[in-house]
Amino acid sequence: MSVWNSEKKAVLEAAQQMAQKGLVVGTSGNVSMRISEPGGRQLLAITPNNRYYDLLDVDDIGIVDFEGECVEGELTASIETMLHIGIYRARTKVNAVIHTHPVFGSILSVIGAEIPPILDDQVTYLGGEIKVTEYSLPGSQELVENVVPALGPRNAVILANHGTVTVGRDMREAFTNCEMLEKTARIYIYALGAGKINPLPTDALEMEKAYFDYLHGEGS
Ligand SMILES: [Zn+2]
Repeated sequence: MSVWNSEKKAVLEAAQQMAQKGLVVGTSGNVSMRISEPGGRQLLAITPNNRYYDLLDVDDIGIVDFEGECVEGELTASIETMLHIGIYRARTKVNAVIHTHPVFGSILSVIGAEIPPILDDQVTYLGGEIKVTEYSLPGSQELVENVVPALGPRNAVILANHGTVTVGRDMREAFTNCEMLEKTARIYIYALGAGKINPLPTDALEMEKAYFDYLHGEGS
């Protein structure tokens, strides 16, 4: 059994849950977890490219270093491996990354609509507004360069004409943030349809952002 069995298991279970909950269709999406070795080496456990999640075993989850080189595993790692690495490099407190193609988040990715801060839990979980990146091809270096700054210090971002990325300090948090983003996107789309949106009061927004920064900020 691999020394990274527990991290591989966490990645596999999150990926299977992602598929079961309809956050992706088929083999789409990818999930990873950061591994900080005692010697200082940074690795990640990540889902393989183009595989149905229900057919995967723990050993099908690969281990990759931060240069993108395979350290353990037989299957080709996700094509978005460099995106996951780019996020881990920029966000030292992030230990799990989930990329999905959920319906409501994808509607906003198609119409190019950023979500303003409209709900308390959106701000405390995700950090405030949800930005939409410029379009870039899946698996490209340009995608990494667009997504990392659009994510910024927050826990969620929408990828133009593609899907979403959410992050967390652990896998449970990254998965919760994935569901939180999809809930927020759904509410925002319905509210847009209703034709009236009251923004969060400025003082509440500031307090909630301060709480978020205390938990997730690089300086804390
Ligand atoms: Zn994708």
